[in-house]
Amino acid sequence: MKKMELHWQILIGMILGIIFGFGMTYFSWGKDFVTDWISPFGTIFINLLKLIAIPLILASLIKGISDLKDISKFKNIGLRTMGIYIGTTTVAIILGLVLVNVLEPGNGISDQTIEKLTSTYAADSGVVAKLEEATRQKESGPLKFLEDMVPDNAVAALGDNRLMLQVIFFTIFMGISMLLIGEERAKPLKKFFDSLNFVVLKMVDLIMLIAPLAVFALLASVVVSSSDPEILLALLKYAGVVILGLLLMIVFYCTLVAIFAKVNPFWFLKQLSPAQLLAFSTSSSAATLPVTMERVEEHIGVDKEVSSFVLPVGATINMDGTSLYQGVAAVFIAQALSFDLPLSAQLMIVITALLASIGTAAVPGAGMVMLVIVLESVGFPADKYAIGLALIFAVDRPLDMFRTVVNITGDATVSTVVAKSVGKLGKPHVEDWDDYLDEVR
Ligand code: ASP
Repeated sequence: MKKMELHWQILIGMILGIIFGFGMTYFSWGKDFVTDWISPFGTIFINLLKLIAIPLILASLIKGISDLKDISKFKNIGLRTMGIYIGTTTVAIILGLVLVNVLEPGNGISDQTIEKLTSTYAADSGVVAKLEEATRQKESGPLKFLEDMVPDNAVAALGDNRLMLQVIFFTIFMGISMLLIGEERAKPLKKFFDSLNFVVLKMVDLIMLIAPLAVFALLASVVVSSSDPEILLALLKYAGVVILGLLLMIVFYCTLVAIFAKVNPFWFLKQLSPAQLLAFSTSSSAATLPVTMERVEEHIGVDKEVSSFVLPVGATINMDGTSLYQGVAAVFIAQALSFDLPLSAQLMIVITALLASIGTAAVPGAGMVMLVIVLESVGFPADKYAIGLALIFAVDRPLDMFRTVVNITGDATVSTVVAKSVGKLGKPHVEDWDDYLDEVR
C-alpha cells in the first residue's frame, strides 16, 4: 500500500487534535487531562527538534562554506540574502499598513468590548510578562544586537538555543578559516562535519515519523487553553485583516519563486507544506528550522551552500509575518483607542517593525513583545501599553500560528530565489529515514 504523504498525515493529526481539544472543553476535567497527559508529547517533539537545531546549523553551515571554494561567493550570497530579506519585510509591513488603514478593523469596535478586553487582560500575567520583557529589551543600546552576535565563549554559545546568531557567527568564522588553510589541511574536519550533517538530517527524518501524533498533542493543548469564543468573535475583523495580509504574503512569495526561481509555486508550497504545518502547530520558527532546512535542501533542491546560511539567519532575523502583524496591530490599537496616527507615524512603524523583526526571537509570542517597541516609536502613551496589548491578547496565539507559517515560507522563498540567482538550485534528492537500512542489516 502506498504510504500517505507526510503533509496529509500531519494535517489529519492537526484536525483530530483540534476536534479532540474542543471535545475536552466540555468536561470539567478536560483541560487538566490534556495539560497533564497530552501536552507533554507535543513538548517532547518540540524538544527533539530544538535538540538537533544547533548541531544541524553547525554541520550544515560548515559544509556549505567549505564546499564554496571561493570566499567571494559567500559575500555574494550574504549580500543578496540581506537585501532580499529587507525588501520582503518592507513589503510585508507596507501591505499590513495599507490593509489596516483601508479596512479599519479598530473603528467598529465598541466601548463595551474595549472595556471587557481591558478588564479581562490588562492585568493578565501574560500581558504583564510581555511588557516586562519589552522594557528589558528597550534598555539596551542601538548596537547591542551586533555586540550580542559575537560570543565570548564558543561552548556557551553552542549550549544555548537562544543564541543562534552567535552560533552562526562562530560557524561562519570557522568555515572561512577552514577555507583559508587550504583543502588538504581542512580535510579531516570537513569529513567530520559532512558526516555529522548526514547524521543530523537522518535525525530529522526520524523525528518526523512522530510529527502527526505530536501535532495532535500540540493543537489539542492550544484549543483547551484558548480564550472565550465570544471574545474571539469581537476580534474577528482584526484577526481577519491580519490573516488576509498573511495570505497575500504567500501569494507574493509564490510570485517571487515563479518569476525569479522559475519554480512552479504550487509545487513549491507542496514541498514545503510539512514545515509550514509544523510552524503552524509549534508557533516557533526556531523549532521548525530543522524541518525547513530538510525540506528546502532535499525536497526543493536548494544547495547547502545557500540554505545552510540563508535559513538559520532567516529564522532569527527575517520575520515577514511578524512585521506585517505588528503594523496591523499597532494601527488597530490606535484606531480602537482613538489615538491619531498621521502618515509620518506610520512611516515610523515601517522602520521600527523592520528593526523589530530582526530583534524578535523565533519563539511563540515574541512578536507581541516587540509590538510594544513599535507602539513606543509612534508616541503611544506608555500608561496605555497594557490596554493596547489587552485588546489583541486573546487572538495572539492563533495569529502567531499563522504568522509563523509566513515567517518560514519567507525564509524558504528567499533561499530558493538566492539559490537560483547564484546557480545553486538543483534537483530535489529526497532521503527517507530507512534508505540505508538494507545496507546496515
Ligand atoms: N512565533 C513567531 C516565530 O517564531 C514570532 C512571533 O511573531 O511571535 O516566527
